[in-house]
Amino acid sequence: MNNPALNIRNLTVSYGNNVALSNISFSVDDGDFLGIIGPNGGGKSTLLKAILNLVPACSGEVFVYGQKNGSHDVKIGYVPQFALMDKQFPITVIEVVLTGRLPKKPTPFHKYSEQDIYVAEKVLNNVGIPHLAQRKISDLSGGEFQKVLIARALAQKPKILLLDEPTASVDTASRRQIFSLLDKLNSKMTIIFVTHDLLAGSSHVKSLACLNNTLVYHGEPELTDSVVQRLYDCPVDLIAHGVPHRVLGKH
Ligand code: ADP
Repeated sequence: MNNPALNIRNLTVSYGNNVALSNISFSVDDGDFLGIIGPNGGGKSTLLKAILNLVPACSGEVFVYGQKNGSHDVKIGYVPQFALMDKQFPITVIEVVLTGRLPKKPTPFHKYSEQDIYVAEKVLNNVGIPHLAQRKISDLSGGEFQKVLIARALAQKPKILLLDEPTASVDTASRRQIFSLLDKLNSKMTIIFVTHDLLAGSSHVKSLACLNNTLVYHGEPELTDSVVQRLYDCPVDLIAHGVPHRVLGKH
């Protein structure tokens, strides 16, 4: 049997006295399409950063395809939160995508190879925006910019793709396009995205996790009202798990 893409064991991460993740354990199968939902401040971004080894664990471990975090050579693509990016930076789409081809420790005046340029153009094609290659990022819509960020992550040819709130700043049509793009990419890589939006991507994921400091649920993409109440610490009206939506009872 294949190694799981991720195996997270008793992971705790703190910022000073603030425990952002408390004793999280779960594993993610190779080829999974996992949606992680939870309220703001619930530790979703921290979990992605812990997987990327960008924040240290207080205790516990993350294994990537069976290898300990920090000592594996598996490529993990990361699409950060859109809202944290400076869209006014004077740079074109292709230049942003090419940064996904930079080595871990780039030298000053790094020169991209023909292969880098070929890959950057190819991933722009794959995400459906080859015509935007020379456009300044300041002149993109939210949905177009999100596709650029996905293309940049794809340019490093990842085996696992992590996305932080991939549809938070995009319109409904772009949201649909992004999830159908992720469906397509999932035939080649394991995908994990986090969101505070219960409805985002619910009909696309193969499995679901609910995170609010601790892992409240991990399993089939179907939610019960008790899980949602534990997750948000209060009753929530409408949830979707696949098609069609289900409305929770009165509370
Ligand atoms: P989410 O992505 O679910 O909104 P985060 O992982 O961003 O949650 O945050 C989890 C908790 O950790 C929050 O209480 C947040 O304030 C805190 N936190 C996140 N990043 C930092 C940081 N760099 N320094 C201190 N506290 C942080």
